Amino acid sequence: MTAPQAKTSTLDLIGNTPLVLLKGPSEAAGCEIWGKCEFANPGASVKDRAALWIVRDAEARGELKPGGTVIEGTAGNTGIGIALVANALGYKSVIVMPDNQSKEKMDTLRALGAELVLVPPTKFADPNHFVHTSRRMAEDTPGAIWANQFDNIANRKAHIESTAPEIWQQLEGRIDGFTCAAGTGGTIAGTGMGLKAFDEDIVVALTDPHGAALYNYFAHGELRAEGSSVAEGIGQGRITANLEGAPIDTQFRISDEEGLEWVRRLLGEEGLCLGLSSGINVAGAVALGRELVAQGRKDARVATILCDTGFRYLSTIYNREWLEAKGLPVFPWLAS
Ligand code: PMP
Repeated sequence: MTAPQAKTSTLDLIGNTPLVLLKGPSEAAGCEIWGKCEFANPGASVKDRAALWIVRDAEARGELKPGGTVIEGTAGNTGIGIALVANALGYKSVIVMPDNQSKEKMDTLRALGAELVLVPPTKFADPNHFVHTSRRMAEDTPGAIWANQFDNIANRKAHIESTAPEIWQQLEGRIDGFTCAAGTGGTIAGTGMGLKAFDEDIVVALTDPHGAALYNYFAHGELRAEGSSVAEGIGQGRITANLEGAPIDTQFRISDEEGLEWVRRLLGEEGLCLGLSSGINVAGAVALGRELVAQGRKDARVATILCDTGFRYLSTIYNREWLEAKGLPVFPWLAS
């Protein structure tokens, strides 16, 4: 057994997450499906990486100075990452979030010491959208920076410099496909770019939830959304700066029902408690694996992202009443 290397800073606990072979998804795809355990980050999500890179980049550019404040608009996970990184480096954090996100995320942000500002969920074009509200607050606060995760490419740089090389090393350079969904697009673009730098033949696929516009953009060149999704943190309607030039070879559209089926199976059969974006990513990875197998690549290896912990969604996708109200299937062990 090799124990993980000892660390001299809590910030060094971000990244270097385990990669695990997923049994059910591998059987369903007919090839190896691997999950990158981003729930193992200190803030329990993939967004710790973006938070650290964004803060370090602002420091390096001289914009963030001792005693400063980091302000961000976020569906929650980036805020959690920013709050932890800010605490570790002596900054304040202000998080603007739409009030339809899970209660667990709001309670967590308050518990971590972030100042939480809730706004109604609106379309991006609305000036009161959480992104615009956070930008205005940063402009009006002395010593503050706006993290701007959607259009600040320090976000995708985190995945070019950390997530991709980790996956490449963990699979010893034998990987054929990578897929995940996009919120800001930092993970798919950065990991895709980073992996292609090792081997340009790795197939990079976007897995889009319903209600997002990127599937149609990459399939037909048209930003058009259809349907809707209850998944938090994913589903993008525009080409963010992080998505510009993302090396997407193919794309899949995955329903909440398909994503939830993998959330149920990964918990019930493999003991992993995950959020819905992870289930949607795994469904996409199975679709990509099947496509590679159909092309005759029976020994294909596909990796995806297990974005965050399911403990963040006990009041939503792990709650019978909530699922019933949304018309979604209830996990058998929650039914009675
Ligand atoms: N899943 C969850 C739960 C998230 O919070 C996010 C971040 N918005 C993502 C996936 C997508 O990550 P990215 O912003 O890098 O596209």
